[in-house]
Amino acid sequence: MAVKRHPTKYLGEEYQRLVRENLNWELKILETASEPICIVNGKKVLMLCANNYLNLATHPKVVKAMIEATQKYGAGAGSDRSISGNMTLHEELDSRLAKFKNAPASLTFQTGFMANEGVIPQLAGKGDLFVSDELNHGSIIDGVRLSHADRAIFKHKDVEDLARVMDEAEKHDPPYNHIWILTDGVFSMDGDTAPLREIAKIAKEHGAGVYVDDAHGEGVLGEGGRGIVNHYKLTREEVHVEMGTFSKAFGVIGGHITGGEDLRNFAYNKARSWLLSGAVPPGVAAACIAAIDVLETEPQHVRKVWENRAHLLEGLQDAGFDTGNTETPIIPVMCGRSKAAKDLADYLWSKEIFVLPIFYPMVARDKARIRVQVCTKHTTEQLNRAIEAFKEGGKKLGII
Ligand code: PMP
Repeated sequence: MAVKRHPTKYLGEEYQRLVRENLNWELKILETASEPICIVNGKKVLMLCANNYLNLATHPKVVKAMIEATQKYGAGAGSDRSISGNMTLHEELDSRLAKFKNAPASLTFQTGFMANEGVIPQLAGKGDLFVSDELNHGSIIDGVRLSHADRAIFKHKDVEDLARVMDEAEKHDPPYNHIWILTDGVFSMDGDTAPLREIAKIAKEHGAGVYVDDAHGEGVLGEGGRGIVNHYKLTREEVHVEMGTFSKAFGVIGGHITGGEDLRNFAYNKARSWLLSGAVPPGVAAACIAAIDVLETEPQHVRKVWENRAHLLEGLQDAGFDTGNTETPIIPVMCGRSKAAKDLADYLWSKEIFVLPIFYPMVARDKARIRVQVCTKHTTEQLNRAIEAFKEGGKKLGII
């Protein structure tokens, strides 16, 4: 007799469970451009949870480039880059980015997620090993899961633990052919940075590759926002894959990898997300090129985001909040349980401040937090308003 099953009933049940356990996402709707003051769900709010660190999403040069390229080349590229959609603008973006990063070559993807998910599983397979920081981004985790390589985890930013894992790996019989160390550059939930110099040193001792996901470091760290590899003055022989995204500080969308010519050639022949998916529209490629132009010619944006970050961090810390170990414009305001983070976010919302509560499974159950992200265009008055509201809400809910 056939098993009694229902094809989709569990979807609703699972959603209800998430709601009951305070683990569900409540989607909000942004009705204006992503600016410091915007309209969300019909309400005028102060935006403190955008990845648009330098406000390039609305920079006139970036917007103009997108419009003009769309008018000239159309709304879409017509195909995958691997077939007939590889436009002059895509190639120009690849080479402009490599030049910006002072590297031999880059390859751009449709998103950063697709770069990780496409490239990582090709780097290592049976007989190889991935060694990954325990707090790496989900797209790295998924990339590793798609591979047939062995996996090992090291404690967050803990170079001694990494050395231990690597020594252990050397005992593997038969010896591993290839070993890759994978790390976020800036950890997206904590705003702290990877000890990349030490990681590169350990990797060198073992002949291992280093892959850094600098999605949140680009546009922020390094000279003129060139990212974490530049920040730590590392070479392409020390960090072999620098991955990033155009969806955050660059203000547009798209992912990329940067390194040697061999890496680029390997990646566009092997990464399935690149080979088997449509190219980004020409307007997107043009806007990304314009964003690189802005970074090269207008250094004030990077300077200002750091000033704003210092002001807000000081205010939150003076108020008594635990802000973790942030080193970047991502500031975690630790709340403990999911409910506390959600309640604080709700309180701030009632004060017209839009922040994101982050909770399990994105972070450990007792490490729920509000993730605050600062941008260039925030004014001191706006940041002071946020600090006051955090203070009131934190006291009311017993967080401070
Ligand atoms: N890596 C990290 C560390 C990220 O935070 C993100 C975005 N959440 C990604 C990769 C994916 O980037 P994209 O938005 O371009 O897909």
